[in-house]
Amino acid sequence: MTDCIFCKMAQGIIKPDVVFETDRILAFRDIHPQAKVHVLVIPKVHIPTLDDFPQDQPELAAELLGAVQEVARREGLASGGYRTVINCRSDGGQEVYHLHLHVMGGRRMAWPPG
Ligand code: AMP
Ligand code: ZN
Repeated sequence: MTDCIFCKMAQGIIKPDVVFETDRILAFRDIHPQAKVHVLVIPKVHIPTLDDFPQDQPELAAELLGAVQEVARREGLASGGYRTVINCRSDGGQEVYHLHLHVMGGRRMAWPPG
């Protein structure tokens, strides 16, 4: 996807503030953080939404969750806890149509979200 900003980050064309990276996953700081720590975890391959996630690639889902755990460890959130969010399409509040997991922490999260 040539016009996708997160694909450009995955390809190194735009350089985000990277927290963690593997050959298939990138984690970087959100440009408008909603908590002391706010990191986005993305697959490098372009998947538009959670609803488009390929069911024949369960190992990629496991890698994404493993990356969330790694980000939480590196950012000092693992023991105290954190919030992970995936917004899906318009009613879910999705703005960037490249699958991403928000990892937020460093403050007490409210529930329910708005
Ligand atoms: P969502 O509403 O779930 O699609 O979230 C998109 C997130 O991407 C928002 O939290 C934005 O602040 C974040 N975002 C958009 N552009 C950038 C960028 N260039 N670098 C880092 N984060 C970004
Ligand atoms: Zn993309």
